[in-house]
Amino acid sequence: MILVLLGPPGAGKGTQGEKLAVQLGIPKVATGDVLRAAVRDGTPLGLEAKAAMDRGDLVPDSVILGIMKEALAAPSAAKGAILDGVVRTVPQAEGLTKVLKEIGKDLKGVLLFEVPDEELVKRLSGRTVCDVCQTPFTGREPGEKCAVNGHEPQGTLVRRKDDEPEAVLNRLRVYQAQTAPVISWYRAQGANVLPIDAVGSLDDVLARVHKALGT
Ligand code: AMP
Repeated sequence: MILVLLGPPGAGKGTQGEKLAVQLGIPKVATGDVLRAAVRDGTPLGLEAKAAMDRGDLVPDSVILGIMKEALAAPSAAKGAILDGVVRTVPQAEGLTKVLKEIGKDLKGVLLFEVPDEELVKRLSGRTVCDVCQTPFTGREPGEKCAVNGHEPQGTLVRRKDDEPEAVLNRLRVYQAQTAPVISWYRAQGANVLPIDAVGSLDDVLARVHKALGT
């Protein structure tokens, strides 16, 4: 089962994708996570992506298509994958369609997480992440210790550079300009686009996702 999670930054794609991946028994592929790890490790990919990421701009489609192809070809993705934040431009959607055709897999659906802009700004500018396990938190301050039990070493909460106010506004602009057209593109292709009201508790939103998917 291949699922695409679409929606603005801060809509909860990562958190919901994580839960869905466990429940459906398929991996979550998040280009943002792959790129952040590359930046941390100082690899050539990370060096190429860092400046664009810090500004809240997109990294080039060619880079994303390479990551996506490799992830989908991995043995762990034999039964499918949840693509979180991967398709962010129309050329990326075209590229994904081509890759899926090559490997003989169908796109089951595009989950479209919908959240009003004011709520997104509030969520992103109040977000911190653990510098070890990358779990996001709201309402907790940078410098506090991670609350996830049992991971060693216990991390410290930090603010992602692209969650600073200026980068947040840029990411929302970039979403409107470059990612929102992907929704119409998928609809025009006859894809199964499933809008999800993503305001509410994690469990409520997850229940809406399962209802939409029939899972
Ligand atoms: P995310 O964690 O999904 O919010 O991604 C963080 C940043 O990584 C984005 O603001 C982009 O700079 C970059 N990025 C992640 N996925 C993509 C993608 N599919 N296309 C272009 N840039 C991406």
